[in-house]
Amino acid sequence: MMNPDLQALIALHEAETALRAAEAALARCPADRAAIQARLDAERGRLDAARAAAEGSTKARRKLEAEIQDLEAKRAKYKGQQGEVKTNKEYQALLHEIENVEREIRSREDAALAEMEAGENHAADVKREEAHFREVEGSFAAEFSAVDAREAKARAEVETAQVAREGAVAAVAEGPLAQYQRIAKLRGGVALAEAKDASCLACRVKLRPQQMLDLKKNEQVTQCPSCQRILYFVPEPPTVDHGP
Ligand SMILES: [Zn+2]
Repeated sequence: MMNPDLQALIALHEAETALRAAEAALARCPADRAAIQARLDAERGRLDAARAAAEGSTKARRKLEAEIQDLEAKRAKYKGQQGEVKTNKEYQALLHEIENVEREIRSREDAALAEMEAGENHAADVKREEAHFREVEGSFAAEFSAVDAREAKARAEVETAQVAREGAVAAVAEGPLAQYQRIAKLRGGVALAEAKDASCLACRVKLRPQQMLDLKKNEQVTQCPSCQRILYFVPEPPTVDHGP
């Protein structure tokens, strides 16, 4: 028959293991949420970049168009002066100015055309990114909801596990509880270890055959010779005989 102190300690160990798992699941939620947010921000960043590129292209084209207007006014002014010049030299000089202005107009018209084509591509990019963002936005919302649900469940599990732990603590006798707490403090909160395959599963030290035989009875509270944790043995489930 199992030692009642050992039985109570195993129950406490299991309650604390469950509590730690629930606390870990709860603690992971903010990081999970931040990771989703970072991916959402990256998607939004792509959309913002496409919009900024489209705006930049429109601005550049408007600037070129304004410059063309100014140059055209300049050319009209020069053409108006053509009737007023007195000498052939002055006339040639004016023609030269007009040619220069027209060359500048042409180069800006080419640039404006290129900018217009780029603008069409940017507009297509924006449309595509907007459609893509609308698509993924929904799946991000679903991911956030899943984390919220997981967090609520973990919080409830932590509360349940805390109650269970308190019950388990109350069921352990004073002496074994003090021993448990002393070992837990030294061993990262884990005071019990399963003995299996002739080893302590916590520190992996080999156990003597006689100790293993004693442990299989679970009649005493014994400690691992290496890590000092209280050892317990979980019997193999009975094997089902399927017959010949
Ligand atoms: Zn050990």
